[in-house]
Amino acid sequence: MTHLPDFKTSLQALISSPSISSTQVEWDQGNKDVIDLLAGWFSTLGFKITILPVPETRNKFNMLAQLGSGEGGLLLAGHSDTVPFDENRWQSDPLTVIEKSDKFFGLGTCDMKGFFAFILQVAKTIDVKQLKKPLYVLATADEETTMAGARFFAEQQLIRPDVAIIGEPTNLVPVIMHKGHMSHRICVQGQSGHSSQPHKGVNAIEIMVEVITQLQALKKSLVSNYRNEAFDVPEPTLNLGAIKGGDNANRICGHCQLDIDMRALPGINDAELVQWLMETLKPIADKYPGRITFEELHPSSPSFAQESNSGLVKVAEEITGHSCCAVNYATEAPYIQQLGCQTIVMGPGSINQAHQPDEYLCHSEISQTDRVLLALIERYCLT
Ligand SMILES: [Zn+2]
Repeated sequence: MTHLPDFKTSLQALISSPSISSTQVEWDQGNKDVIDLLAGWFSTLGFKITILPVPETRNKFNMLAQLGSGEGGLLLAGHSDTVPFDENRWQSDPLTVIEKSDKFFGLGTCDMKGFFAFILQVAKTIDVKQLKKPLYVLATADEETTMAGARFFAEQQLIRPDVAIIGEPTNLVPVIMHKGHMSHRICVQGQSGHSSQPHKGVNAIEIMVEVITQLQALKKSLVSNYRNEAFDVPEPTLNLGAIKGGDNANRICGHCQLDIDMRALPGINDAELVQWLMETLKPIADKYPGRITFEELHPSSPSFAQESNSGLVKVAEEITGHSCCAVNYATEAPYIQQLGCQTIVMGPGSINQAHQPDEYLCHSEISQTDRVLLALIERYCLT
C-alpha cells in the first residue's frame, strides 16, 4: 500500500492547497488540488472515487468516496473550499500549518479541511471486510459562496445513506437547527424632473416609503406568527440593510433601491417566504404599474431542522456527551438532508475561529474527534 500521511502531514497538504471561493472573480480559486489529494488518499484506502464537475461554477468539483457497498450507511460530509484571507491580519502564513500553544494554525484548519484529515486517520483503521453498510466521504465545492456543490449533489441523488454528519466546527456539539437566509433588492423606477415641478415627475423615494411601510407590516406579522425558543433570536427576521436613491435635493428622485435580508425559521420554506414578500408588495406594484422590480441578490439557503428525538441525534448526544442545539449560521445540511437521511452538523473546532485571522484547531480535540468518528462508523457501518 502506498504510504499515507499522518494527521499533521495530511492537514498541511490540505491547507497548503488553496481553494478559496469568493463571489469576486479575482479572489475565486479552483478546488481541484484539494479534491485530487483527497481522492488519492481515499482511493489508496480502497474507497471508490467519483469526481463530479459542479455546474455553474468556475471549474469546481465535488468528490464522493465510498467504502463498502449495500444500502444505507454513514455519510461524512464537508466543504473543500475556504473563505478568502487578509494576510496582514494573520500572525503566520495562512497556507502553512503552524503548531504553537497546542494548536494547529492555518486557513481551513477548523472550517473545515481539518475534518477530512480526521476522517483519513480513522479510515486507515477500518477493515473493509467488517463493513456491513457503506461509509461515504463527500467533499463539496463553493460552500462559502453559493453552496453550488451541495445543491448539485442533492439534485443528483447518487446515494441514500441512513445518516449524514456535516463536520463544520461545532466543538463536537450536535447541531440540529438553523435559520434560512435570503437577500433581495427592490428597485423603484420613478421619473426624474425639476423639484419645482413635482407633477411632471414620479418620486421614487416617496414610493419606496410605501414599500417600507408594507415591509414593516410583513415583519410584524412574521414576528407575531412564528417563534422557536431554540434560537437566541426566536423569531424570523427581516432587515432593511441598504438604501440608495436620488442625487440632488432639487431633483425629483428617479430611482431608488432597497436591499433586504430575511432569515426564516425552520418550518417556513423559501418559496413561501418569497410569496409573502410578493403579496406584501403587490398593492404598491398595482398602484404604480411597471415601476417596482424585485431580484434575488444571491441564491437563498434554506432553513434546516432535524428532529431532536431522531435516532442520530440521540446517538450523537450519547457519544459526545453534548446536548443538541440550534445555531445562527447557515450550512449545507438542508441540501444533504434531501438525500433522505437523518442529518446533523457536528465537527471539531469552534465556529468562533472560522472566517477569522489565525484560525486554529486545538490538539485536545484530536483524540476526541477520532473517538467520535470511530463510534459513528461502528454504529452505522459495522453493525
Ligand atoms: Zn464551513
